[in-house]
Amino acid sequence: MNALRLLHDALSGRFRRALLWGALVALLLVAQGLLVTLTVRYEATRQQEAVDAVAEEVSGELRRAVLRSVQALQALLWSAGAPAQWQGGATELLRARREVLRVERRGEDMALLGSLASPYAAPLFTALGREQMSAELEPACTAARLASAPVFSRSYFVPQPGGLGVEVIDACIPVQRDGRHDGFVVLSFGLGALLDEAAGAQRLRRHEFSIVEVDGTRLARAGMTRGAGVYSARHLLELPGSALQLRVDSAEGSPQLIPNLATALVLGLSAALFALLLLLARDVRRRAQVEHALAEALAFRKAMEDSLSTGLRARTLDGRISYVNAAFCSMVGFSAEELRDAATPPYWPPEFIAEYTERQAARLSAEPGAGGGNPHQEGFETVFMRRDGERFPVMIYETPLVDGAGRHTGWMSAVLDMSAQRRVEELSRQQQERLQATARLATVGEMASLLSHELNQPLAAIASYATGSLNLLQQPDDQTPDMLRHAVTRIAEQAERAGRVIKSVHDFVRRREQARESIRADQLIDAVLPLVRLQARKSGTRIELEYPDPIPRVMCDRTMLEQVLLNLTRNGIQAMEGATPQPQRVLRLRVLPSQEGRVGFAVIDAGPGIPPEVAQRLFTPFFTTRSEGMGLGLSLCRTVIEQHGGALEFESLAPPPEGPGGTEFRFTLPDAARVPRAVPARA
Ligand code: ADP
Repeated sequence: MNALRLLHDALSGRFRRALLWGALVALLLVAQGLLVTLTVRYEATRQQEAVDAVAEEVSGELRRAVLRSVQALQALLWSAGAPAQWQGGATELLRARREVLRVERRGEDMALLGSLASPYAAPLFTALGREQMSAELEPACTAARLASAPVFSRSYFVPQPGGLGVEVIDACIPVQRDGRHDGFVVLSFGLGALLDEAAGAQRLRRHEFSIVEVDGTRLARAGMTRGAGVYSARHLLELPGSALQLRVDSAEGSPQLIPNLATALVLGLSAALFALLLLLARDVRRRAQVEHALAEALAFRKAMEDSLSTGLRARTLDGRISYVNAAFCSMVGFSAEELRDAATPPYWPPEFIAEYTERQAARLSAEPGAGGGNPHQEGFETVFMRRDGERFPVMIYETPLVDGAGRHTGWMSAVLDMSAQRRVEELSRQQQERLQATARLATVGEMASLLSHELNQPLAAIASYATGSLNLLQQPDDQTPDMLRHAVTRIAEQAERAGRVIKSVHDFVRRREQARESIRADQLIDAVLPLVRLQARKSGTRIELEYPDPIPRVMCDRTMLEQVLLNLTRNGIQAMEGATPQPQRVLRLRVLPSQEGRVGFAVIDAGPGIPPEVAQRLFTPFFTTRSEGMGLGLSLCRTVIEQHGGALEFESLAPPPEGPGGTEFRFTLPDAARVPRAVPARA
């Protein structure tokens, strides 16, 4: 259930994060899209407004130009009476205004009285006669007379020689003379020229101007470029009697995506923002991953520290405790806070505080790694105190604490509670001792018949000397004192011999202090020799001793080694008893010269050797092939030799004729000359 909830949380957390990021990216995209659209639309509106303004200005200009010409002519008509004078003024007008192509004077009946043509253009009605072209003029003049004001005709096309033609519009101005109507003056405007004049060179470069009819038919155009057809505007020309429109078409194309620097900047910034966002997202993701890994590592470290059975303790350079783990707290019975706050560690037994303070000061003042490494890295044993006052041994391994920058900031210690181990060691030591004592007693038990036989001889001798002495006393003669002295001397000798036998057994069985001492190899053998000989004599076995010169001294636990030698010699003698003819029963005890700090010992018999199936189980406790055997001898021997840093080995010697046959048991002991004298009890 828990795992499911965690999975759900993780998923929903991830989903929520993805949703947030998605929303952020979407918003950014929408904002950017809007920005671009608005910019483009603003650009379009600006262009359209510009074209509208141009259309309005140019149509105004156009209207003004036309009206100016009409008004100039009207003024001329008012002031000039004679036709010659009028003609002079009209010629002026034609010269000043390019768009005016022709000026006519017509009578009341529309009859042409006279005309003047523009000096800038070919005469209008050369291709077709004027009369054919006046269909549009007459209604205009009729309207003008009625209104007593200038009226414009519909436009019409006047073909020119060479296939070209011009679109023309006429203005019919009624003439009043002395309060009477006196015909008309007609001004013909070329629409193309009119457009050129009104628009001006500047505007013509960027726009295409057209004069169109209401239905869109184009009558005239001006402009150096063609319109792009994107931004166009129409404006009514507002000339009396005419319904012409001005159309302006800008050469400007559709707005580009990046029409100007501002948009480019905005787009660039947006792109940078987007890239930043991506980088940020990546950074956040990486950070989240790292945080996750860190959290896991921390959790793992915490779990590891808490589950450790070894106590961990960190101390600062001035000796204060900066960290302890759970195992250390439960070992000493104080909480982490109590340990951290204490000036003197509460787990120091009061009787050792002075000694420990001194020791700590010495250790803390030592440079880490100085003088060939930290001795405490190997571990040192000391005594701590639990909260309830119980003292217990601990093993401390201490190493310098070095931070990430390589600075030595304190000391880190691993602390092991040795009390359980000590208990086990003590128990095993006691058991070992008991076992050895038992084995010794068993050996003596086995030797009981031997002993009784050995003691029997002196006792029998003593008894017979005593009987003889009594007999002498019953019939004394002058030789009696001498003979009595002789008998008593013999009795004393035999008693001493019996005493020696008893003492050798007593010496062997007596429990002695366990301690290593330096002893010459032959002395070690001599100590057990009486007992060995006792056994050897019974089976008629010869004992041969071989010592090197000089005889080395060995460092050993004497009691234990005596036991080993006795066991091995006894095994050898027993092996020969059943299998070897008496003359060949030889037991050799050999001491080898010291080699690489160790002195070798060998016990060699001439027995039957050890068959492989026995060899496999030779050192197994309680393994024996003898009915009265205990099967402890060899296993005990091996333990003792291993405690002395050696190994007990054996070898079956080749039987005759190739070899002497029998078995050789070998072991080594430390050479006393190579062992340092002082062995400290505690480091
Ligand atoms: P035990 O002497 O009480 O039998 P040991 O551990 O001393 O116990 O010896 C175990 C067995 O190893 C003996 O019973 C014997 O069969 C065999 N053994 C020991 N020493 C020799 C030897 N020198 N030659 C042949 N067999 C041996």
